[in-house]
Amino acid sequence: NKSVIFLKYPQEFPVPGEHFEVQSHELKIDLKDNDVLLRNLFISLDPYMRGKMRNTDNSYTAGFKIGQPLDGAGVSEVIESKNPAFPVGAIVTGMVGWEEYTVVAGAKGLRAIPNARESKIPLSAYVGVLGMPGLTAYSSLKIIGQPKAGETIFISAASGAVGQLVGQIAKRLDLRVVGSAGSDDKVEYLLKELKFDAAFNYKKGNILESLRAAAPEGVDIYYENVGGETLEAALEVMKLHGRIIACGMISQYNTQNPYGVKNLVNIVGKRITMRGFIVSDFAAESGADFARDVGSWLVNGEIIYKEDIAVGIDNAPTAFVGMLQGKNFGKQVVKIADL
Ligand code: NDP
Repeated sequence: NKSVIFLKYPQEFPVPGEHFEVQSHELKIDLKDNDVLLRNLFISLDPYMRGKMRNTDNSYTAGFKIGQPLDGAGVSEVIESKNPAFPVGAIVTGMVGWEEYTVVAGAKGLRAIPNARESKIPLSAYVGVLGMPGLTAYSSLKIIGQPKAGETIFISAASGAVGQLVGQIAKRLDLRVVGSAGSDDKVEYLLKELKFDAAFNYKKGNILESLRAAAPEGVDIYYENVGGETLEAALEVMKLHGRIIACGMISQYNTQNPYGVKNLVNIVGKRITMRGFIVSDFAAESGADFARDVGSWLVNGEIIYKEDIAVGIDNAPTAFVGMLQGKNFGKQVVKIADL
């Protein structure tokens, strides 16, 4: 069994071979009642995992343990089972190791994907558009954003796992949609494929000037994924009673020198609401609506979803660092095995 083992806490960007690496070890299988053995097909690589590479108990999820495999959401096939709810051959999603095979004690947290073998939906969707990033986009836009037709939304990291769905849902709600992303190809995807009204490459030119040009009438909702200079620019262009959906601040995850946002005072005069959240906060409230709505939009082709699929567990560490650096184009997953 090949696993990606956590070696050392990184200070800045994690480095494959130094902070985590692929190791081979013998698979010991001694299933107890209700346990299952999974053959992992896909694993999800997500920015929050960088937060688990810290030696702290303060995070909202427990940190990775040195010497242990990293873990995350996956899609897997049950290949041995002592659990009648998850028979051999079932396709499941849940938390697994970054590895080829995982024993899940008591099948804890697993969910079966019905008709997985016959469905038109690709299995990787269950860790992306139909999984955690999808629920993040769907629930927070509605609950925190309070979007209304005709309003303008600005989305950073707009071509990523969360951003591309936020943009498409906002279009469905008749908002004017503006996005930023880190390459010209990503900007073209936002404009041509996702039909954003305006988009810009934040790495070219001045962010505030680009944002002003893309949203001359100002911004009602800022969907915050990156923080730093982009947040500072958004605060300048926010309208009265604007809402900031504080989803993430990825520009701050791999640095020892956090960016000092200079203009928070805008929050006062403009009566801005800025609210953070963790997706699990909204699972009970939005989970069922999300699965129904996004599931049907996807099957009917009303939304599209771009994935960036690295192949092979050996490539997981490099793909993870690449995702933190913007080398991914769409939701980053690793395909470990074919069904
Ligand atoms: P993405 O698929 O968007 O991948 C991360 C992207 O971040 C990169 O592709 C890159 O895109 C962008 N990025 C990296 N560094 C910088 C930087 N210095 N400045 C600007 N952009 C940068 O990831 P997700 O969609 O999964 O996550 C997006 C955000 O949402 C993250 O902040 C994440 O932490 C957060 N999140 C929060 C959740 C919650 O519960 N609150 C749940 C899920 C995600 P580019 O090429 O455009 O720079």
